[in-house]
Amino acid sequence: MSECLVVGGGVVGLSIAYELAGRGRRVRVIDAAQPGREASWAGAGILPPAGSHSDEPLEQLAALSNRLHAQWWEHLRDDTGIDNGFRRSGAIYLARSATEARALQTLASVAHRRHIVVEPLSQESLREIEPAVRPRGGLEAAYYAPTECQIRNPRHLKALLVGCAQRGVEVLPGTPAEDFEIRDGRIEVVVTPAGRLSADTVCITTGAWSGALARKLGLTLEIKPIRGQILLLSQPRPVLSHIINESSRYLVPRPDGRVLVGSTEDDVGFDRSTTAQGAGDLLHFALGLVPELGNSQLERSWAGLRPATVDGMPYLGRVPSLDNAFIAAGHFRGGLQLSTGTAVVMSQLIDGETPEVDLSVFRVDRLSHDSPAPQASKTRPAVSLG
Ligand SMILES: Cc1cc2nc3c(=O)[nH]c(=O)nc-3n(C[C@H](O)[C@H](O)[C@H](O)COP(=O)(O)OP(=O)(O)OC[C@H]3O[C@@H](n4cnc5c(N)ncnc54)[C@H](O)[C@@H]3O)c2cc1C
Repeated sequence: MSECLVVGGGVVGLSIAYELAGRGRRVRVIDAAQPGREASWAGAGILPPAGSHSDEPLEQLAALSNRLHAQWWEHLRDDTGIDNGFRRSGAIYLARSATEARALQTLASVAHRRHIVVEPLSQESLREIEPAVRPRGGLEAAYYAPTECQIRNPRHLKALLVGCAQRGVEVLPGTPAEDFEIRDGRIEVVVTPAGRLSADTVCITTGAWSGALARKLGLTLEIKPIRGQILLLSQPRPVLSHIINESSRYLVPRPDGRVLVGSTEDDVGFDRSTTAQGAGDLLHFALGLVPELGNSQLERSWAGLRPATVDGMPYLGRVPSLDNAFIAAGHFRGGLQLSTGTAVVMSQLIDGETPEVDLSVFRVDRLSHDSPAPQASKTRPAVSLG
């Protein structure tokens, strides 16, 4: 049984650890702080529908991930007793301006080409299925996406941590990777304040922080943090039953009456604070769509740092100059969704199998100057985003 060291315990690292351990690997995860408390905890947990008929690797990865989420929910619930809240709540996509309506129409035709069910909604049908939605300024267009799902991130991360422990994964919080010792084309040692750790394989999954670590391996990753703020409102009883999307903003209703309002995209470096401007914009958006939310309790707000890449695609692959180093990072607004598929394809790669999704477009040196540009388009972000 060979050992794999996963550096970074967000949803991507923990999912890879869970999958590798399920394949019989001995796995250790180190995290600079508490695992599962960064972007992965902060996310809204939207799992947008993905097309089963697509030749685009990012779309294939999303479709694989969606299939796996339904299975992992059951496995994790049965094995750990923790229900991560996975459910098919469906989503409504709204447009209040002509420009937004045109963008929605394009989105609907992309969805149709991908065999994703998206139906136009009349004002009357909208009122019937979501009576609390009364868009200020009127409605230009609306669509219904019945297969959109959601999970509750903190519960999913808790389930993953327990599932990992049950599979024998050792998780070390407060253990940042600070440097690497490289010999004969391999990472021989990962240097941490707790000591020098060695493993047969090292997989770096440090989200928005991955650029600095990759530089220590002689690799340039074009990855940076983009802050997303969220507000949590609560009502004594649910006022919404579907996820409501408008442009890059959304309302995510939970069955207990809570509603997540997200999210901003702030290019402010590694700053996780919430701002009055961010909260004000999100409240304006929420009350402009669902006036009844004005009576809700403002429970809390938070922010997380999405790992954004310049071309909108994650880095998934082996570090070309090293035999035993892998990277899975840069999932931006889709990391919760893509985590299950990422875990499976990275485990296949690490185990020397051919990954079931072609990973060449995600290769980690694709943006370096002496590497040819990737061929695949990045049209995936057509449906909702976290
Ligand atoms: C507001 C918001 C809403 C979102 N909504 C959605 C959504 O609805 N659906 C969706 O699919 N996605 C959503 N996302 C995106 C998703 O959360 C991210 O893409 C995903 O969490 C990235 O996971 P990760 O494991 O790569 O990174 P992270 O969760 O950030 O984990 C990285 C880990 O690495 C650790 N680390 C950093 N440096 C080191 C080091 N040197 N050594 C060891 N450990 C280190 C950190 O402590 C952290 O635990 C949202 C994100 C935000 C912020």
